[in-house]
Amino acid sequence: MFKNLSDRLERSFKILKGEGRITEINIAETLKDVRRALLDADVNYKVAKSFTDTVKQKALGQNVINALKPKELMIKIVHDELTSLMGGQEAPLNLSGNPTVILMSGLQGSGKTTFSGKLAKKLKSSKGKRPLLVAADVYRPAAIEQLKVLGESIGVPVYTEDGNKDAVQIALNGIAEAKRNHQDLVIIDTAGRLAVDEEMMREIEAIKNAVKPQETLFVVDSMTGQDAVNTAREFNERLDFNGVVLTKLDGDTRGGAALSIRSVVEKPIKYIGTGEKLEDIQEFNPEGMASRILGMGDIVELAKRAQELYDQKEAERLQEKIKKNKFDFDDFLNQIHQIKKMGNIKELASMIPGVGKVIKDIDIDDSAFTSIEAMINSMTPYERHNPEVLNQSRRQRIAKGSGTSIQAVNKFVKQFEDTRKMMRAASNMKNPMKMMNQLK
Ligand code: GDP
Repeated sequence: MFKNLSDRLERSFKILKGEGRITEINIAETLKDVRRALLDADVNYKVAKSFTDTVKQKALGQNVINALKPKELMIKIVHDELTSLMGGQEAPLNLSGNPTVILMSGLQGSGKTTFSGKLAKKLKSSKGKRPLLVAADVYRPAAIEQLKVLGESIGVPVYTEDGNKDAVQIALNGIAEAKRNHQDLVIIDTAGRLAVDEEMMREIEAIKNAVKPQETLFVVDSMTGQDAVNTAREFNERLDFNGVVLTKLDGDTRGGAALSIRSVVEKPIKYIGTGEKLEDIQEFNPEGMASRILGMGDIVELAKRAQELYDQKEAERLQEKIKKNKFDFDDFLNQIHQIKKMGNIKELASMIPGVGKVIKDIDIDDSAFTSIEAMINSMTPYERHNPEVLNQSRRQRIAKGSGTSIQAVNKFVKQFEDTRKMMRAASNMKNPMKMMNQLK
């Protein structure tokens, strides 16, 4: 995410390294670089200029009283200003009303339908909501079909009306249906066009006036840079939406939209989409994002994701198994699935302070787990529950079945056994002598 911008900012701060204090001269050079980095990231030029002006003022003002070195002081000020540029604080959804109605708007291809599914899934699992998805795109049967498939995969019902061309009526009927079935959240997916068009605007305006949603969200593809900001402005003038959803932040998007939208449209970014999978959704946190841009990690987001997936009962069950040395390949596979649910591995690692910078040029992806999963899937249930029975001929069969090699299987089984020993020792930490003996 924003790799280029991160690299460029890091380089601009280097100018200040070794300087005793911030002066008009050394700061001018740094800020010229910062501004260029922002413009190259496709940040709106007015936004970039006012950003560097503010940073300059603050840096010169704090210079005398601050104990930080010039480079650190500058990083801190830029961090604070990036945070405030992106809205300062998180902007949670208004989930009042019964049902809560959320209306999606945006151009075709922006990721509206995908996001509707992601949000339904997220609010169902984290807030215990009972969502209904409403397909109000009356022009593209494929879009309705897509929503149905999404709904099915997350276990959320989808309201559709074959043949009805009145999107307002469908939206209203959808809400009535939700009330009848005691569903407390309605997410309305609407039609988009390839470009802003009067008929589309009129239709979504009519839906908004009729259903009076708690939230109207504008979904936009962050890869489109300044176009995203312009489209946001046009939609906002007509719809006066409540918040922005920035999608496709996982690609090599330069960051311009994320950094400019808030100050141009004066509406908060509420969510971001970071991949095609339904788990790839995050509440937008300006401070965390500023930290990530500056390569400082985002431990809050990491903790939040871990928390969401934490299952007390499962943790206790595992602890018990570990103590009894019964942790098996099925548990291992389960753990891999849990980690995968938290998101893309490289993205997760980049949230750990200090790690992001180190790994930014290294290729890590989820395929790291693929061969391990294949090996476990090639084991019989008996073998999975009894790792110790894996003799050479069984290992040979597993290597063949998983398309790996006997060496790879041997290595994995050895690592698994070592891990098991370590975990067991750690679970007996209260008794250090016992732990030492087990490790022998
Ligand atoms: P809609 O026309 O606005 O409903 O857009 P869709 O939901 O159909 O999405 C258009 C394309 O973008 C699809 O191929 C999605 O898989 C993809 N997409 C949506 N959100 C994201 C995201 O956050 N990251 C990536 N990489 N792709 C996304």
